[in-house]
Amino acid sequence: MSDTIFSKIINREIPAEIIYEDDLALAFKDISPQAPVHFLVIPKKPIPQISDARPEDQALLGHLLLTAKQVAEQVGLGNGYRVVINNGADGGQTVYHLHLHVLGGRQLQWPPG
Ligand code: AMP
Repeated sequence: MSDTIFSKIINREIPAEIIYEDDLALAFKDISPQAPVHFLVIPKKPIPQISDARPEDQALLGHLLLTAKQVAEQVGLGNGYRVVINNGADGGQTVYHLHLHVLGGRQLQWPPG
């Protein structure tokens, strides 16, 4: 897989506002926030998109969701939030390193555009 901007954030080659890190995952603030709180949770393993995930990624994918929940609590999203994965062109994905968007801090509308 080619290097993406998120690999560069993992490797500290470009800056980001990192709010959580462990052996498997990283969370950092989205550079173009769509809500008062908007951060991304990414695996350190460079899976390009959720449709590329394999059965052996099961535990990692669970870890990403639990990380999203933990960081959401940490940043005060006790009133709720949304977790989004954009997949592929029609899903609006622009960075091909799997990431979970966590959005909150305002009333979110449904359905998304
Ligand atoms: P997606 O459209 O689902 O692929 O989301 C990619 C997200 O990455 C967008 O919300 C961008 O604002 C965000 N993004 C792109 N570059 C950076 C960066 N250098 N630091 C933080 N977030 C970024």
